[in-house]
Amino acid sequence: MYDLSRLPKPSQRRVAIHVKPAAERSIRAGHPWLFEDSITMQSHAGNCGDQAVVYDRKNRFLAIGLYDPYSSIRVRVLAHNEPQPITREWFKKRLNESIQARNSFDINVTSGFRLVHGENDGFPGLVLDKYGRNLVMKLYSTIWLAYLIDLLPLLVELAAAERIVLRLGRKVQGQEEALFGLQDGLLLYGPELQGPVQFFENKVRFEADIINGHKTGFYLDQRENRVYLEEIIKGDRSFKSLLNVFAYSGGFSLYGARGGARQITNIDISDAALQAARNNFRLNMRHPNIRKAENQYVVGDAFEVMDRLFHAGRKFDAIVIDPPSFASRNSQVAPALRAYRRLTRRGIKLLRAGGVLALFSCSSRVGEDQFFKGAVSEAEKMGRPLQEFKRTGHPSDHPSSFEQAAYLKGVFALLP
Ligand code: SAH
Repeated sequence: MYDLSRLPKPSQRRVAIHVKPAAERSIRAGHPWLFEDSITMQSHAGNCGDQAVVYDRKNRFLAIGLYDPYSSIRVRVLAHNEPQPITREWFKKRLNESIQARNSFDINVTSGFRLVHGENDGFPGLVLDKYGRNLVMKLYSTIWLAYLIDLLPLLVELAAAERIVLRLGRKVQGQEEALFGLQDGLLLYGPELQGPVQFFENKVRFEADIINGHKTGFYLDQRENRVYLEEIIKGDRSFKSLLNVFAYSGGFSLYGARGGARQITNIDISDAALQAARNNFRLNMRHPNIRKAENQYVVGDAFEVMDRLFHAGRKFDAIVIDPPSFASRNSQVAPALRAYRRLTRRGIKLLRAGGVLALFSCSSRVGEDQFFKGAVSEAEKMGRPLQEFKRTGHPSDHPSSFEQAAYLKGVFALLP
């Protein structure tokens, strides 16, 4: 097991930082990020994870946070407005608050959910997902490494963790000199893991590869949208066929099957993802509806496969399109919007009249309005206007407290 005492401790000396007026306003309004280019003065060059105190032009306290020399987000704010000592006790209180906020989950029904959602739960750059008694900590900043030695015992105590796995965001994986030998997928605590872990989501049994899988192994953020799809299919016996585009491990397909869909087509570019979807169906054979579903798995590019299905004359009663993030930079927003429009067009061509299209975006840079309007106007252009009946956003375990945090958007629409 990794020896946490290898990791550097935060220094006793806090970094004092003065900022430009625009940053002052933004932090005063509660924003959790201070960018490198907003800094006007700094007491000394801090180390990664050092506490940093941010002051306004009149030397008044604005916020306290953690210093990150490796990121353009130089300080991630822990507390606004009032100075407070950031100690193990402080982290304990915050963690307890996050756990309390998830009290409504009955682990016999749903044992996989997000326990800490980064900035939005007061742990900027840190995500904690729970899969039964397995916890996955995903870091988007190395500021947290200096605090792991305090955090791990807290997680064992407060979140009843039996195993803790570390996952690293893509940028963090490149910050080798800050990682002290830590790697993506490393076991931080508990027994070695053999294969995927199992958990429940609304009583559907799933497995997730928490070491190598996307995100922390599963798209926990789509839980409520999956329920909504199941209800639609259950509510109308004519809904028998489901096309799940960008299916990953089959989340939407399992719920669709439970709701009564009999023919399900799953498309994903990753063979491993569709293998996991197959396994997830196998895990739920006790459910009569899930047992009755016939699945087709198509490995390939979604755009091409949808075109092929169209040329083969296929039509579906319900279609889910849940693509990966298309825009990680601002320059990618326009191409992303075009990609959403192209997917909408393909979806409409494959949908029977009276069918339902569910379209999602997980690009935080694509605004809600842009995304919804794009889909609606594409349908109008085709002369097949959609009747939108539901828009969805974040589930309660993925709270979103500032603009950049609102990544997930969804629309359910009827094709008359
Ligand atoms: N709907 C899924 C999550 C989808 S994530 C769920 O509920 O769990 C996006 C998925 O798109 C990933 O599984 C990824 O492998 C797949 N993907 C990425 N690019 C693709 C492409 N061009 N064609 C098909 N699948 C793609």
